[in-house]
Amino acid sequence: MSKKLLIVESPAKAKTISKYLGDEYEVVASVGHIRDLPKSNKQAIDIGAGFVPHYEISKGKEKVVSEIKNLAKKASEILLATDPDREGEAIAWHIAELIQGSGEKSKSKFPISKIKRVTYHEITKEAIEEALKHPREIDQDLRQAQEARRVLDRLVGYDLSGIIWKKVRYGLSAGRVQSPALRIIMEKEREIRAFKSEDFWVVSADVKRNEGKKEKFIVVCEEEPRDKKVVDAIVQAGEKGLWFVKEVKETNVKKSPRAPFITSTLQQTASSRLGFSPSRTMGIAQKLYESGHITYMRTDSTTLAKTAIDQIVDLVTKKFGKEYLELRSYASKSKNAQEAHEAIRPTHFNIEHAGMNDEQKKLYELIWRRAVSSQMKDAGTLRTKITTNITDGKIPDFSITGSQIIFPGWLLSDPASRGDDVELPKVSEGEKLDLEKINIEAKQTEPPGRYSEAGLIKELEKRGIGRPSTYASTIKTLEDRGYVDKVNKALIPTDTGDVVSSFLEANFAEYISDSFTAEMEDKLDLIAEGKEEYVKTLEDFYGPFLKEVKIKDKLDKATNMGDADPNMKCPKCGEAMIIKLGRGGKFLSCGTYPDCDGALTMEGVEIKKDEPIGIYPENGLPIYILVGKYGPYVQVGERAKGKGSKKAEKPRMASIPKGKDLTTVTLADALTYLTLPRVLGVHPDTGKEIKANVGMFGPYVVHEKDFRSLKEDDVYTIELPRALEIFAQEKKKRGFKKKTK
Ligand SMILES: [Zn+2]
Repeated sequence: MSKKLLIVESPAKAKTISKYLGDEYEVVASVGHIRDLPKSNKQAIDIGAGFVPHYEISKGKEKVVSEIKNLAKKASEILLATDPDREGEAIAWHIAELIQGSGEKSKSKFPISKIKRVTYHEITKEAIEEALKHPREIDQDLRQAQEARRVLDRLVGYDLSGIIWKKVRYGLSAGRVQSPALRIIMEKEREIRAFKSEDFWVVSADVKRNEGKKEKFIVVCEEEPRDKKVVDAIVQAGEKGLWFVKEVKETNVKKSPRAPFITSTLQQTASSRLGFSPSRTMGIAQKLYESGHITYMRTDSTTLAKTAIDQIVDLVTKKFGKEYLELRSYASKSKNAQEAHEAIRPTHFNIEHAGMNDEQKKLYELIWRRAVSSQMKDAGTLRTKITTNITDGKIPDFSITGSQIIFPGWLLSDPASRGDDVELPKVSEGEKLDLEKINIEAKQTEPPGRYSEAGLIKELEKRGIGRPSTYASTIKTLEDRGYVDKVNKALIPTDTGDVVSSFLEANFAEYISDSFTAEMEDKLDLIAEGKEEYVKTLEDFYGPFLKEVKIKDKLDKATNMGDADPNMKCPKCGEAMIIKLGRGGKFLSCGTYPDCDGALTMEGVEIKKDEPIGIYPENGLPIYILVGKYGPYVQVGERAKGKGSKKAEKPRMASIPKGKDLTTVTLADALTYLTLPRVLGVHPDTGKEIKANVGMFGPYVVHEKDFRSLKEDDVYTIELPRALEIFAQEKKKRGFKKKTK
């Protein structure tokens, strides 16, 4: 008997689902994307024909594709059960296209009527069974919205990166969402640079009750003077004065629970409470989803399904009592009405602890607590403010505020949100106080803080830039490209990030603006809803954009970062220096370059060319340390000068690793660098050489154009067996990587 073939994108999901289904189903995984637009090839998009993308089967996916095709031939029906969002819809469509085999004879085509799409927001038995009862056609609007995003991102990436390559440095990148995000980080950085800190003082008084148990407490001056004279006057008057309780004010404050998680709030909370990076959080959430514990984790809807609310009612009533229950719905910013329309929540609320390991358990608990507390009563806090002053003088009020929870409400299910009670002595108005001493503390105003990853996501969401599926990958791109460094949790732009962003801000301001980027996201949403046309949206954008790119092509290079400190003079000719961006960051270059090639490090140490650091043993030629437009490097011998130099043999060169202090490069270091490119041996399957080298994206190993970047391995010491291991691993595809991280 032929079976029904159900196709999902991940093996873990396939495993979970096949447990729920009977023998009449066969479940198979596509393992992410199976087709994509070839990278860095604009020709793959036929712009003239209406932005028609020409997809290619992703490298390494040939086997999976032919397996799916074979299974499809035998299947009675095909059910495409990929994720319930645009990307999932697009994968489903690609699979359907391949099964249909566009180029093959119509006879052998699998009937389209027997290819169905099924969606569900949680991988539970009930949800899958329910989904199978409502198969539908592939939603071409959703699919096209995803296609538009992909094509748009490729075109912008291609053209904008091209300009950056010419004007800043080869190998860098720019992108439709990535560049606005970088601009936001840079804007903050400029605020920080422009910030001038000021002195101020915090004045406080240790006071003691005059009666009863004579409890001590500290009151703080409500003004923070910026002038030391004012501080002295307050201290003087305070020390002489008679202190008393001017006012005791009690207020009831209600604290409401927050909406159940959506992608952005989950990423933010997991970062602040658990210290997880957004991409790590998404990876863990994906595992919880695939094993059936939580609903789909890429969503911007705060809605809870009725079945979920019923479960919460039951649970809260049993666990905390009926008086803690309050059903609420939360305003949703969601614009994707047809897509993942539920918040992230547990599938089974009676399971309080789920997950295969510690990090999964922690994240699950966070999700559980947030969802349950969202349907509970407000917490009530009694806030007490004691204001004091002196009877006989003029100083600002000194005060302290305490708080005490009088009704815990939703905090019962989320105690981490509770905070500590601050209890104050029960003083009454008019009561006299004894002053013990007055304290002053000198402080300085602080510049605005840098964005953390979670903070940036919040900002991107606020400005409407990106969507739940893109936040984590956008930030990861900025880090991978070397545009920002993550120090502790703060995102700090690098010199390269600074130059690239400044260039784009000066020349493509509109295209990387908040409004433009947010409007484009809205247009993509409209395509998804069938209210906007694919071709028109792309045409409206691309025509003016391309024109702009062509105009900006005539600009000068942007690696010039302004004049150096006038005290820094060229070590060769004494002329003024300018700051330039090299591969290793900023350095100082002679203002008359290329007439004079004198160069200094930012610290003023000469980057020498004339004095070799030693002799290359293989040919007896001197080894120089040089700084070129791609950064510092070592060179054996000298480049032939004058005419015909192109024909002359190029000297051997090897780049100096990023971050290496040039003044510490030894002959041994240089000889190590010059071992690249290293031939590690031949691949047993092909007989072709495997080499290790450093390229524009960092160290890599290569075998027949299959480039694998080296993350943990040392490019100078890696051996053949380890390289073979790396090639044996499945190559991570861009599209799929996004989903698993
Ligand atoms: Zn000079």
